[in-house]
Amino acid sequence: MVATLCCLLVGSAVGTLGFLREAIEEREAANSALALDLAVHQVMAADRVISAGGSRSEFTHLAGAVTALDGDHRLALHAMSAASATQAERLIAETRVLGGDILAGRRSSVSSNSPDDLVDLLHGVAERASRKGTTAERIALVFALLGAIAATLAGWLLIRSRATEFRLRDELTHQATTDILTGLPNRRVLDRVLDRARTDMATSGGVTGIVLLDLDGFKNVNDTFGHRTGDRLLVEVAARLRRAQRAHDVLLRLGGDEFAVVLVGMPTADGAEQAAHRYLSVVDEGVEVDDRSEHLRASVGVATTDDPAALDTLAAEADLAMYEAKRAGGHRVVVFQSGMEHNATAVNRITRALRLADFDQEFSLHFQPIVSIDAREPVSYEALLRWESAEIGPVGPAEFIPVAEQIGEICAIGRWVLNRVCAQLHDWDREGRWPDLRISCNVSPLQLEDPNFVLEVTSIVDGWGVDRRRVVLEVTESTVLDAHGAAVARLAALRDAGFRVAIDDFGSGYSNLGQLLQVPFDMIKIDRSLLVTLSEMREHAGGDPTSPCAIMTAIVSIASVFEAPVVCEGVETEDQLRSLRASGITHVQGYLTGRPLPAAEAFGGSSQSRERPAGVPNRARQLPATAA
Ligand code: C2E
Ligand code: MG
Ligand code: MG
Repeated sequence: MVATLCCLLVGSAVGTLGFLREAIEEREAANSALALDLAVHQVMAADRVISAGGSRSEFTHLAGAVTALDGDHRLALHAMSAASATQAERLIAETRVLGGDILAGRRSSVSSNSPDDLVDLLHGVAERASRKGTTAERIALVFALLGAIAATLAGWLLIRSRATEFRLRDELTHQATTDILTGLPNRRVLDRVLDRARTDMATSGGVTGIVLLDLDGFKNVNDTFGHRTGDRLLVEVAARLRRAQRAHDVLLRLGGDEFAVVLVGMPTADGAEQAAHRYLSVVDEGVEVDDRSEHLRASVGVATTDDPAALDTLAAEADLAMYEAKRAGGHRVVVFQSGMEHNATAVNRITRALRLADFDQEFSLHFQPIVSIDAREPVSYEALLRWESAEIGPVGPAEFIPVAEQIGEICAIGRWVLNRVCAQLHDWDREGRWPDLRISCNVSPLQLEDPNFVLEVTSIVDGWGVDRRRVVLEVTESTVLDAHGAAVARLAALRDAGFRVAIDDFGSGYSNLGQLLQVPFDMIKIDRSLLVTLSEMREHAGGDPTSPCAIMTAIVSIASVFEAPVVCEGVETEDQLRSLRASGITHVQGYLTGRPLPAAEAFGGSSQSRERPAGVPNRARQLPATAA
């Protein structure tokens, strides 16, 4: 099409020019003939005047006519045949002589018929040339019209292809800047939004903030339910965030399970934390996944600035704050504070080392006794994980457990711990020691979110041939209170299957007794922080450190509703122990009655079995097939 149009354009241009040239030449020939004709007529008029006896003074145009006849007549002659041209040349010469004789006042010897013959000849030439010129003009016009049509078509094609180009470019930009799954702007848009905010802040001031939201345990959702379900969840989260979006907020999906909201044009930084809580609250609701009700949780980091130059680091600061939220157990909002960058470096090192860790070589368990106050005898031990990283040396569980949760390693670690605990119980059984002693394992909230958790725990414990009643699963108070139907049902199922459940870290957060009543448990463990706070309060008030504590007594009476014993953690002094006993507490766990120690030291000579039941790999990601 384009090639045809180009040919048409060139052809029409050539045609138009060719015929225009011809038209001009013919017109010039006609004009030359007509000019000659006029001169001849002036000579003829003079001749007639002389013949009629007129005065010479009346021949005003004769001199000009003679000069004209003397001039160049090639154009007119060129339009004639060769014979006519020769005749015309002769007639022109004769007419010029006639004109010259009249001017000179001589009687001319030239035939006065010559001008008449010449006029006839010139008329014919002028007519013919004029006709030819008109025809050439018309053809040139047709060519010009064809050219105009071709040019219009080519122009239209050009505009259309430009429009297509613009559309494709627009689509490409849209694709490059939009997250396909959720339809939200993607990470690439963040820089643009911040650039615009920088300009706005420089001209009209104000504060810009970034709220960074990362789903907790999303890797588990993907691993458990598959990527399709994970994608559906992300779409749902995007829809919820959109609903909470305010006019000036820019909502983006940065990738994976990470979303960001840029808060632009805020008068002060005060609103940012509030906005972050608003976004967290819309995400933090139950969601239906594959006919199951699951609970979404998220960690949120917030950073703000009123300095346009500080916008470059704003996203990184929000990121650090978000990591702090994760480290603190997730499901919360953390506002950036300087100093967090040091923590982040540590988290990065832990993440790397954890990914490379050889569980059997680097992990071990320490056991701390839970002691009956009256008998001063252990009733059970809590297994506490220790990590001597080959890369970075020893790391405490408070540091690496949140990272393990964040990178999705916690379930594998949990399986490793449970296998080790079962190995210990199995050793005792084999040695015929402590048939009534139990061992507690800490269970991460993320493990509870796994629909296979019940099956997994039962298979591991049964695989070792260990009595289920000797395994206590410790879940934190906050896990239980945040737990949705499915997690609580899993705890109930484990209890029905014979396992014991302890509520760990009681009193470290907010307690909703109504919700607590929904959860099946066999033991409450009061958090060390509550004991410390209450001891300090009493010290301030100058009270007797060994007297009963009303709050501890209240907790004991709540637990008595469930017939569950209360253990107080972190007991370090005899005064604390006395006060707790006076308050009705029956069991304690703390440095006073026994520090966490390796199995060999904790159990006096018995070293924990390292042999695994057949089929249990190093990282204990799979279930044991049979007991050893
Ligand atoms: P937790 O389950 O509440 O464990 C009790 C913590 O209190 C332990 O800290 C223990 O060493 C410490 N503790 C016990 N008595 C005293 C005392 O008298 N004074 C003081 N200052 N501390 C005392 P640890 O071993 O550092 O563990 C910290 C937390 O890490 C645990 O708190 C638990 O939430 C988590 N954790 C430990 N092992 C595991 C595990 O295998 N899996 C999971 N998911 N979490 C674990
Ligand atoms: Mg515990
Ligand atoms: Mg605890």
